[in-house]
This record gives sequence, C-alpha cells and structure tokens, in this order.
Amino acid sequence: MVKTYAYGFPRIGKNREYKKIIEDFWKGNKDQDELISDTLKLEKQTIDTYKGNVDNYPTNEMTLYDKMFDMAILLGRYEPFNLEHYYDLCRGRGCLEMTKWFNTNYHYLVPDFSDWDEPKFYYQTRFKITGENPHLIGPFTFLKLSKGIPKDKFEEFALKLAKIYQIIMDDFYMVHLDEPAFVMDLSDEEIECIKKMYKIMTSDSRLKTKINVFTYYEDVEWLRELFELPVNGIGLDFVNGRNNLRNVLSMGSSILKDKTLYAGFVDGINVWKTDIRYVSIHLDYLEKMAKEVVVTNAGPLYHLPVTTEGEENISTELKNHLSFATEKLVELSDIKNKDYSKYEKYNGQSNNKVSDRVDNLTDEDFVKEVGVEERREIQDGILNLPELPTTTIGSFPQTKEVRVNRLHHKKGKIDIGEYSSKVSDFIKENIDIQEDIGMDVLVHGEPERSDMVEHFCQRLDGMQSTDNGWIISYGTRVYRPSIIHGDVYRPKEMTIYEIEYAQSLTDKPVKGMLTGAVTIMAWDYVRKDIPIEKVAYQIGLCLQDEIRDYEVTGIRMVQVDEPAFRELVPIKKRYHKEYFDWAIKSYNLSTNTNPETQIHCHMCYSEFNEIVNEINQLDFDVVSIECSRSGGEIIEAFEKIDFKRQIGLGVWDIHSPAIPTKDDMVKILKRALRVIPRRQFWINPDCGLKTRGWEETKTSMKNMVEARKVIINEE
Ligand SMILES: [Zn+2]
Repeated sequence: MVKTYAYGFPRIGKNREYKKIIEDFWKGNKDQDELISDTLKLEKQTIDTYKGNVDNYPTNEMTLYDKMFDMAILLGRYEPFNLEHYYDLCRGRGCLEMTKWFNTNYHYLVPDFSDWDEPKFYYQTRFKITGENPHLIGPFTFLKLSKGIPKDKFEEFALKLAKIYQIIMDDFYMVHLDEPAFVMDLSDEEIECIKKMYKIMTSDSRLKTKINVFTYYEDVEWLRELFELPVNGIGLDFVNGRNNLRNVLSMGSSILKDKTLYAGFVDGINVWKTDIRYVSIHLDYLEKMAKEVVVTNAGPLYHLPVTTEGEENISTELKNHLSFATEKLVELSDIKNKDYSKYEKYNGQSNNKVSDRVDNLTDEDFVKEVGVEERREIQDGILNLPELPTTTIGSFPQTKEVRVNRLHHKKGKIDIGEYSSKVSDFIKENIDIQEDIGMDVLVHGEPERSDMVEHFCQRLDGMQSTDNGWIISYGTRVYRPSIIHGDVYRPKEMTIYEIEYAQSLTDKPVKGMLTGAVTIMAWDYVRKDIPIEKVAYQIGLCLQDEIRDYEVTGIRMVQVDEPAFRELVPIKKRYHKEYFDWAIKSYNLSTNTNPETQIHCHMCYSEFNEIVNEINQLDFDVVSIECSRSGGEIIEAFEKIDFKRQIGLGVWDIHSPAIPTKDDMVKILKRALRVIPRRQFWINPDCGLKTRGWEETKTSMKNMVEARKVIINEE
C-alpha cells in the first residue's frame, strides 16, 4: 500500500490565529514568551492535522515571519539580537527587499549578500530547528533566490554553504529540503554546481541523515542527474510540472531503484479535487520503478485556505468539487485507500451570452485605434495637469471605522442606506484630505472595498468568494482568494457609484479604480475546464463595459491595476510567449475604450527589468510601479527601451511603517529624472495605502508634495 506524506500546511490557522498572535506582539499586547508559546501551539495544531490524515510530514514549518529570512539567519547572514530587531529587518526602516516566490502570490524577504566579498556562512545555533524531520529551504534554492552574489563567486558560496548544511543536517534522522529552484531554467554549470553541493552535503560517511529533496511548480529537465543525487528521496510535481510524469515513465524501470519517489499528485496551489482513480493508475506504474513511492501534495499547501468546513455560502454543488488544505490531506488518505467515491469531473456553469462574445472577438478588439502619443495630446487638452503630477495608487487607510461599517452591513446590523451614507462620509473625508495636502489626481480611497480582487469577484457572476478562506501573501498579510468557477459575467455596474460621488466633490480628476483580469486570475483560483485565455477575455470584457460606464458619467481617468502581471509569468522561458500573448491581449481588450479616457496601470514587485518589453505592449497611458525597495534596478530597465508612456515611480515604500522624509524622496526623484524625461514623470507611493495608519499616510503624502516642490523649484 502506498504511503502518504504532506508538507507546507498553511501557518495562518483556521481563524487567522497566526496574524493575531504576531500583530499582538507588535502592538505590545503580547511578550516574547507568549509569542513563542502561541506560535508553537499553532504548529502543534498543524501537526495534529497531519497526524490524523497522513503517514508522515515535516516539522519546523512555523516561522515568525518568513522562512527564507529564517534560513538566512540560521546560516549566519543576519544576526538579529532580539525579536524587535528581527521584525525591524522584516518590516522596519532598512528592511530586506521583498519579492514574489516563483509564480505565486507569496512574497519572501530576499537575503542580500552584496556586502560579503567571500562566503562567511556559519551555523547560528541560537535559532533552534524543531522536530525530527525539519523542513528547510534547500541550499541551492536559498542561494539562487538571494541577491548580491557575483556570478563568478556563486560556486564558491555554494560549496561553502553545502558544508554548513551538512553540519546542520547531522543532528537529524531525516530532513525535508525544498528545492523549487531546480525547476528553473538552469545552466549546465548550475546543474554541475548542484551535484557538487549535494556531494559535499553527503560526503561524511558518518552522516546517517535521510535527505528528501522536493521540487515543485514545474517539471525538472535534468531528471537523470536529479535521480543520481546522493539523497534518499526525490519529490516531483505531477500536477503543475507539465512533463514530469511522461518523462519519468519514459526513463525505464530501474531509474529510481535506490530512491524514494515523493509523487506530487494532489495540487497544492489550486482548489479543485484530485481525480483519485487517475492517480491510482499512475502510482501503480511508478511503484514498479522506484524503491518506494510516497504520494504527496504537488507544491506546498500554504497556497490554499485551511479548510472548506464552515463555508456556508458556497453551494453544495460547487463545494463537492473543492478541496482546501485539510481536504487535500484527506485526498491523500483516499488515494492510499483507493476511495474513488468523492470525485466527479467538473464542468463550470456556462453562459452563452458570454462565451459567444468571447468567441466572436477579432484582432481589432485587442488594439486601440489611436496611438499613445496622439492620446497624450487629446488627454492633455482635457486634463490640464501640472508638471510632475502627484497621485496615490488607490486605497487609503482601512481604519477600524471603515472596516466596522462594512462588517455591520455584511452582518445585517445596519441597512444599505446607513452603510452607504457612511461610505460617502469616508469618501468625502478622503477627498478633503487630498485637496488640503495639494494632490493633483485624487482617489476615492476604497472604503467600500475589503480587497481589490474580492470586491470584483463579489460583483461578477461565475466567481465565488469565501467567508474564511484566508491565505498569507507575506509575513502576516492575508487575503481571501475567490474561485472562478463558471463563465464570468457583469450583471450591473460594479464601482461607478462611489467614483462618481467622489468626482462630484472636486474639480480635480478622480481616478476610476479597477483590477485587471490577470491580477484577478493570479489572486484567485481559476477553473481548469476551459482554456485560461477564455477566462481572461471574459473578465476583460466585463472591465471594458465598466470603463464605458465611467465614460458616460464623465470620469476622465481609469486605473486598471495589474500588480500581479509578473506573478503569473511561467517559471520557464519557453512558456513565456503563450502566457504574455493572452495576458497582454486581455489588458488591451479591457482598456480598448475612448482615447479621451486616460488609462492608468499599477504594478507591484514586477521585476520590470526582465519583462519591460512585454509591459511596453500593454497599451496604458500611465504606469505606476514599485521602486523604493529595489532601488535603481527598475530605473535601469527603462533606460533600455524607448518608453513612450508616462510613468510614476514609487518614491515611498508603503510596506514599511517608516515615514519617508522629503529628502529620501527627493533623492529617488532625482535619480529617476536622470533617466526618465520630466514630461513623462509622475510622483506617487509604490502601492496602495490601505494597510497604513492615517497619521503616517498624511505626513508621507505631505512630504511627497514637498519633495515635488523641491524638484520644481530647483529647475
Ligand atoms: Zn502595489
């Protein structure tokens, strides 16, 4: 009988306990001992859940903020002297850069080695590893995802690091190493380097540790060499690794004779149920090839909410097709027991009006008639903006009052009239504050939105939001993905009322606020029963209809956010083209409206340098992007192309509570203006402000307006 194994269970807890524990510590409501004991309790709950469902699982999965950062500490790169210092490095002034974790919406802190001339790793034992089978980030993935290591020194760092891993692992009977970087496009030198690293890690004959290496999110192209690594077990993703299964099956029966194969058949990153019968058939084949086969999840389970239990608003029909993390563990046990009874093929709800419209799209639907430079002239005539206009990204602090208003309305404690009148009050306050500070382009502040994706999902047919389906995007930051389960249709306008009201309060332009199709898809779970581009175009058409409704009400600017445009880019280069093709087309379809309407786009953590040419094919008029954490890299990217559009570089890092000074911002502005023509330049923070408090937001906005004045006056 096949054994079962699971890993990466969400640390958030069934009722978001994780968030509360840590944020209580930040607020001073919990001391260090309570913080540690409460998170250990949470870890114990996870272990109990594992124990009830699967044969084995890793330990040491808890973190106080981020596993990459913890690994960097364990290896001696950072030496926080207490927890306050630890959190300062995570989120304070001078914190580490944050970037997306592969093609997911999880973000990690990037260890930076730029001030290390040579590898100085050591095993920092002060931070204890817990349990018998610790879950660690593998050495290659750790280094590959770090920054600041010169190319010609990579191997030197890698080999030194391997020695430290050997020392760390020596204490354990079994170790779980995550090596998702094995699925990236690797050079021959890198593969050779991995082989050397793993040889060093296992070179001491006294080492009795069983090492299991897990790859996921895509396939591994150098399977033969992977299988020859001197380790006990290899984990492969047979769901998202498109060619893994075929490649393994074609390799002949003796290839894994001395290895345990951890067969990832239960999708860790999407919510659809596993076809248990399909898995069983393939396991039968694989069992003939390997010393042992253990069935496991494909990709860590933290991309999923904890459980579907208690989700009262999801129809039974849909719920029968869904599995969140806990249910995925049950599926593993069903695979073991060959219980095929719970799975049935899923076909999403169809809507002919929608599918016909998508089927009838032609090339013209994806291309604007008027080019960007000509649009600029038309729009300048209408908007009359000053040089270097200031704006914000869209959301304003979600204060307690703002959240309570939505909650009371949701729970039926106040009626729609009272709710809406409060929303209007918040919008008025937001507009007044921006007018006072002297911003040029205003936003309504989004007091009616809990989340920039969920808000739309709740207003579109074919999408299902959840009550308690939270997942972590970084640190303690959580959000609730929805499920795109049927054809997507807009029964009525989604955002016009609030924006129209905001615009009625001011002569300055107010931006309409929408979330782009790619981001909606990246941050939600997407149906798999129709091609992905069809889903994108369905959403694109809903957005286009919404912009046309804005135009009728006299709104002159609409921002269509695509913060996740980079996230969905496939890990392997060879799949980029097919992705960018539909992603770019969906954006241009959404925004293919009147040339008079200025289209803004916002992107976060986009690593622009890599995809600047593709971004340039998105036909927006203005883009605002993150810049303050990754500094000059983004600016350099724009030096390389002839960028005709307008651009706002984020001059303040809103992910940190530190208030940027006027001088901080002047510095960033000056550096950017050396590369980007003044005429094309906007000034803004690097992201929405909903997680920030009002005082810091106001001060930062004032400093931003002052920084602009410095630049204007210095001319
Ligand atoms: Zn952002």
